[in-house]
Amino acid sequence: MESLSAKSRAASQLRQRRHQLARQFGIPQELVGNSLVLSHRRCGKANCRCSSGPGHAQWTLSHSRAGIRQVEKVPRAWVEQLERAVLETQAFVDAIGEVMDINLKLIRLSKQELKKKGSSKNEPPRVSRRLSCLSHAARCPLASLS
Ligand SMILES: [Zn+2]
Repeated sequence: MESLSAKSRAASQLRQRRHQLARQFGIPQELVGNSLVLSHRRCGKANCRCSSGPGHAQWTLSHSRAGIRQVEKVPRAWVEQLERAVLETQAFVDAIGEVMDINLKLIRLSKQELKKKGSSKNEPPRVSRRLSCLSHAARCPLASLS
């Protein structure tokens, strides 16, 4: 994909990190932003043709992560290939969301089945320490507070 083909050292480092993530989590490497939008803007120059029309066309690709919106303007020539990538990205993100929805429903159903069996007496002891502390229990001050 031409829009992802930068050759610099920085680009190659980014590609390495992407490859690592893609392998570790089985993520397609060509995921892009999940929103590709065309807008029009007047440049403000009095003698520009845009002053009487809708304005200059500008495509922007974006996505949000941890509440921060990442936005990048993209050349018209790349829009077609990016459109396809955006659709694939949306489908992938939807699929992840659906897997999480399904697993929450399965947890709910499993709890209901457990209640029906009346096996609440066999519940394991409550775990009060945070799950994230388990992996570094030796160092974590919260791990000793159980
Ligand atoms: Zn203009």
